[in-house]
Amino acid sequence: MIGRGSAVLAAAILAGSSVLLVRPAAAAPPGPGQQQQQEKRPVAEGYGGAVATVDLDASKAALGVLRRGGNAIDAAVAAAATLGVTEPYSAGLAGGGYIVYYDARHRRVHTIDGRETAPKAMRPTSLEGIPFDDAVTSGLSAGVPGSVAQWELALRRFGTLSLGEALKPAIEVASRGFTVDQTFHDQTASNAARFKDLTSTAKLYLPGGALPAVGSTFRNPELADTYRQLGRRGGSWLYGGRLGAEIVATVKRPPVTPGSTRTVRPGLMELSDLAAYRAVERAPTRVTYEDNDVYGMPPASSGGSTVGEALNILQALPRVGVHEYLEASKLAFADRGKYVGDIPGVPLRQLLSEGFAKERACLVGERAIPAPAAPGDPDGSYGPCRAVPPESQKPTPAEGPETTHLVVADRWGNVVAYNITIESTGGNGIVVPGRGFLLNNELTDFTFGPAPGDPNLPGPGKRPRSSMAPTIVLKNGEPLLAVGSPGGSTIITTVLQILVNRWDFGMTLPQALAAPRATQRNTAQTQAEQGFIDRYGPELTARGHSLVLNPEIGAATGLEFLGGGRVQAVAEPVRRGGGSALVVSGHR
Ligand code: GLU
Repeated sequence: MIGRGSAVLAAAILAGSSVLLVRPAAAAPPGPGQQQQQEKRPVAEGYGGAVATVDLDASKAALGVLRRGGNAIDAAVAAAATLGVTEPYSAGLAGGGYIVYYDARHRRVHTIDGRETAPKAMRPTSLEGIPFDDAVTSGLSAGVPGSVAQWELALRRFGTLSLGEALKPAIEVASRGFTVDQTFHDQTASNAARFKDLTSTAKLYLPGGALPAVGSTFRNPELADTYRQLGRRGGSWLYGGRLGAEIVATVKRPPVTPGSTRTVRPGLMELSDLAAYRAVERAPTRVTYEDNDVYGMPPASSGGSTVGEALNILQALPRVGVHEYLEASKLAFADRGKYVGDIPGVPLRQLLSEGFAKERACLVGERAIPAPAAPGDPDGSYGPCRAVPPESQKPTPAEGPETTHLVVADRWGNVVAYNITIESTGGNGIVVPGRGFLLNNELTDFTFGPAPGDPNLPGPGKRPRSSMAPTIVLKNGEPLLAVGSPGGSTIITTVLQILVNRWDFGMTLPQALAAPRATQRNTAQTQAEQGFIDRYGPELTARGHSLVLNPEIGAATGLEFLGGGRVQAVAEPVRRGGGSALVVSGHR
């Protein structure tokens, strides 16, 4: 157990764990003329702008935009579009996502919700009885894409580039190609069984019937052309125009390979659903943890509310260690499940109130609370602890490292934290013929039901509850941190754990990202990486936790603002093949 203020000891312990043997923080800044961006490395420090993504090409795209005078929003859109080329199984123009943005000039945090949306014909029963895996690879799971509307809104509100200009780096990478790495190869391999059952997908990602070889160059001229036309014609080409019509046709009649026995259910999407789609600016969530103002995504994401509630619970406790981290997360997830979804009247203020957090915190004792724990009652009247019986709840399935998260800062001090996703690795598996991109399966984030009273049942025009938690932290009104991760509902715990690592365990940001992770989402067992089990297993087991191996949790990126204009950009050193951090200049 680690008391506040004895953090350095914990940092020393954790820094000794094998997971941290990878190059930690403070990699030497590049010397004059030394172009660090030629290699993929997880940490960079410097001035004038910074970026971290999972991918070197995407980070370079952002860096190029920053160097040519673009701002953080311009660079974030360029990086996201490039990830649609190089990480096409996690991100793309037919997906969705959330941007949290700090506008330096007005010193305000904004969010832009580009979440996919259910078609008008969707009903609470539309997914009932359908096996989850069948729904994943189907037209039915494809939500109305949000990314392009989000890019346009972000550029119009806060950017300086046109959509066409912001797409240029991605067009270049799609045309000239990128080098296939082990991650791309493995993700293709794990999708091969369904990709081969869809003609357009097999043609693009299993060329000649084979997996793209590691080290080979992968080109996507059709995607380059799609981006080019999108730049010229604008988002209306998708939201009601010809590209939209092709998406609808694909959703309704998925191009199943002749002879395949796979049932690929058609979807409910109409062109009118695309025409009705809007990206939306929403007020961010905000909690204050010690002196840090933590801003996140409001519903229908559960990211901001769940990270925020867990931080509030931790703050109400006298000491913060790994046990408390798991307990706070467990309780916050119980409340997430009951109260958060795309419904009117989510009790957000109460969920993020100090009174509610104190009431929840008083349940945390020496031993683990039996899970699943019951949700609390965020009714505004809080007193002594209420005895709450454990609830029965279906176990949360293991969630993979889907999706992607990127961070960008520019020379003016604007900051972006951006999660972009197509949900499963490979989305719904269906490439729109001739267009070079996969459709999302985001609607599988709805509760399938029957589940009376569940806030996350499907409905017409509804956005499925998300766990994405792009997060920006201000201290005294100035940016201090930006952080986020993929990983389904483990996103929430990854972001929370990084913040706890940074603040309560005294780690540097690179250490906080690299440290072994655990994820407690109100289930009987806590999933954890091997390094975490090795380090904390005996102590936590003695206190009633049950740890079970999850080999890899999350793939985070982050920024820390070190003062005087110096920024540290941080990506994963190992997970998902390691990410890429770059800065505009090593010198002021
Ligand atoms: N669909 C997930 C969510 O919105 C993100 C995908 C993932 O990371 O698995 O929470």
